[in-house]
Amino acid sequence: MPGRLVVIGGDAGGMAAAAQARRRDASLEIVALERGAYTSYSACGIPYLVGGEVTGGTEALVARTPQVFRDDLRIDVRTRHEATGIDLEAGKVEVRNHEHGRSFSIGFDQLHLATGARPVRPDLPGIDLPFVHGVQTLGDADELLAHVRAVDCTRVVVVGGGYIGLEMAEAFVNRGSKVTLVESAPHVLGSLDPDMAGRVGDALRRFGVDVRTGVSVESFEPGVAHTSVGPLAADVVVLGLGVTPSNELAVEAGLATGVKGALVVDQRQRTSHEATFAAGDCCESFHLVSRRAVHIPLGTHANRQGRVAGINLGGGYATFPGVVGTAITKVCGTEVARTGLNERECKEAGLGFVSATIDATTKAGYYPSTGPITVKVLAQPGHGRLLGAQIVGEAGAAKRIDTVAVALHAGFTADDLLDADLAYAPPFGPVWDPVAVAAREVLKQL
Ligand SMILES: Cc1cc2nc3c(=O)[nH]c(=O)nc-3n(C[C@H](O)[C@H](O)[C@H](O)COP(=O)(O)OP(=O)(O)OC[C@H]3O[C@@H](n4cnc5c(N)ncnc54)[C@H](O)[C@@H]3O)c2cc1C
Repeated sequence: MPGRLVVIGGDAGGMAAAAQARRRDASLEIVALERGAYTSYSACGIPYLVGGEVTGGTEALVARTPQVFRDDLRIDVRTRHEATGIDLEAGKVEVRNHEHGRSFSIGFDQLHLATGARPVRPDLPGIDLPFVHGVQTLGDADELLAHVRAVDCTRVVVVGGGYIGLEMAEAFVNRGSKVTLVESAPHVLGSLDPDMAGRVGDALRRFGVDVRTGVSVESFEPGVAHTSVGPLAADVVVLGLGVTPSNELAVEAGLATGVKGALVVDQRQRTSHEATFAAGDCCESFHLVSRRAVHIPLGTHANRQGRVAGINLGGGYATFPGVVGTAITKVCGTEVARTGLNERECKEAGLGFVSATIDATTKAGYYPSTGPITVKVLAQPGHGRLLGAQIVGEAGAAKRIDTVAVALHAGFTADDLLDADLAYAPPFGPVWDPVAVAAREVLKQL
């Protein structure tokens, strides 16, 4: 479709769409507005930059610079340009150019929203003090690193035990800081069942992180985080309390929102407005196991949804099938992964379940460098449809989750998974892969 496409947000969900739209339609005028200084970056790499495993500064995390988009794809990328208002009727976006301090409006025929999400900042006294950092964009990483270099960053408090909090805790231990992680729930990683999450908490403690569960932060003052069990000295505080979709402009413009304020989209990533699409952390996804709308902010979803939106914006036809909630991380030498639903999510979805947890090894038991792996599988009573899986273990453990993720997409039963022709050689696993062993155990429960 000829005309002008305006993209708001220059990371995964935005630039994947812009690039696809260009490939589909050479005549489309594409303008991409990005509030920050970077495009197509990996926020996922921030913990490794902070921890020193990745060197080369924040630029090392940039996959494609604005200039590459301009030169290779003729996309008019405007960094330091913030969209400040959207008029869907008039087909206009209000823009603030932070570089020159000027505002202007730009018309569009089609609009794509990829404004992402931002770290949750609870309304606590002192939360806006400069030593309290959220990490979401590369700009946030720049600010955090500048602060860390400027102060003698010996004591760090991480608030929240989600995967970002855990990765940041490990990063600061790797930098030589004394790290306290505060989590109000009884265990870290609420995306896992408590029995599996407990193993991750143990790994953090073994690594030297002072993990305080059942403790909440109440306020901040310079150098101190006050908690429900007393003050904690802190040179830097990092928030890891999850994220909330950045949808203020979309809501003001009248677009429909759903779970956690994320934008409602159809299978083609179209919002409630005909000419407006969305992708990434700002929008909902459809969960293929619970059959419900969810907000699961991950780079995997942002890229895939962005691609689908871009094909449609470029005049093609594509649909996003949905997600199964697959996520993976490595914390303090322990690999962690999950897919599908955990026990709590099964209950919320009204799905009965049985589960089995097995301990095995990542390689053949006799093979050098083999390590422990624990796999938990959940299945539906009766027919045994797979509902989810969680894995905690040493090197080589977590990527096995992809087997179960594909099985969930395919609607496998535990029987199907047990029968699957999985690869085997001693350096890669036991002859019965731990995932198959867990499927066999859950079958016994059925
Ligand atoms: C520390 C960390 C580790 C992570 N690790 C993983 C991982 O291992 N695996 C994984 O799958 N995911 C991971 N994620 C999540 C992943 O980074 C996000 O899901 C992904 O970046 C979402 O992409 P997005 O384009 O939707 O949003 P974002 O990356 O948030 O990008 C949105 C962009 O829009 C811009 N913007 C917002 N409002 C405006 C406006 N009004 N005008 C102009 N520009 C605007 C923002 O500046 C931002 O650059 C991690 C995230 C963090 C923070």
